[in-house]
Amino acid sequence: MIVVGSGAAGLLAAYRAASRGHDVVLVTKADLPESNTRYAQGGVAAVTSPDDSIESHVADTLVAGAGLCDVEAVRLLCTEGPDRVRDLLALGLELDRVDGPGSPLARGREAAHSAHRVLHSHGDSTGLSLEIALIDAVRSVPLEVHEHTFLRDLVVAETELPGSSSTVRALGARTVDELPGSRVEAPAGAVSSASTSSTPTGRRRRCGPTPSCSPRAAPGSSSRTPRTPT
Ligand SMILES: Cc1cc2nc3c(=O)[nH]c(=O)nc-3n(C[C@H](O)[C@H](O)[C@H](O)COP(=O)(O)OP(=O)(O)OC[C@H]3O[C@@H](n4cnc5c(N)ncnc54)[C@H](O)[C@@H]3O)c2cc1C
Repeated sequence: MIVVGSGAAGLLAAYRAASRGHDVVLVTKADLPESNTRYAQGGVAAVTSPDDSIESHVADTLVAGAGLCDVEAVRLLCTEGPDRVRDLLALGLELDRVDGPGSPLARGREAAHSAHRVLHSHGDSTGLSLEIALIDAVRSVPLEVHEHTFLRDLVVAETELPGSSSTVRALGARTVDELPGSRVEAPAGAVSSASTSSTPTGRRRRCGPTPSCSPRAAPGSSSRTPRTPT
């Protein structure tokens, strides 16, 4: 399985797949911690208290969206939010609490929210805390990480998929590595590591319990100049 991107979505998908025994290759175009996720400051909105409700969260979100929201997506987000927050806490995300460890989560009331439901981590470092927790989770399972590897194309085929209305299936990927001379062309059918593991000079690492995948120890994060893929 190829996972593209190392923000919250990619890291969690990679962690979950690898922890269920799948063979996972995570490719990301910059250093592992680089993502929008790490810069998010404002917090996570979710219903985590009996004095709040999913319906209220849905209603507030739709009002704030001013008619632009996909109602089903909003409903899914608001309904599953509390469980996902619990998942993230279980993975080690440190959310701010009212009075130290073990006390209730501190809940802010912000913007269009009519209830106190916005959770933060270390004040305005919520995204960074999330990125760190998820990278630690990814480090705890066996999977392969390719940094500075830019997904250029998906290799797709038209095919009937049981139980799906989609007829397009991804069979592999083509990537371009930042380092010279390391372009990878994946043959169709190479669904997972074959598409990227032949990278001769790209930064490839087996991610496991090693500090090298930590955002605190990310190598080269400040000195590299990204090269535009060709
Ligand atoms: C300054 C700022 C503040 C924000 N504040 C909040 C907030 O308060 N609350 C909130 O909920 N949201 C906030 N957001 C939005 C939030 O950060 C994003 O919605 C969320 O992080 C998206 O997560 P993601 O994993 O989908 O994408 P990202 O975190 O953007 O990760 C995408 C990953 O894909 C990689 N990538 C992209 N293209 C390629 C490619 N072709 N090949 C290989 N890799 C690729 C990137 O390098 C990156 O690692 C904020 C965003 C910013 C920038």
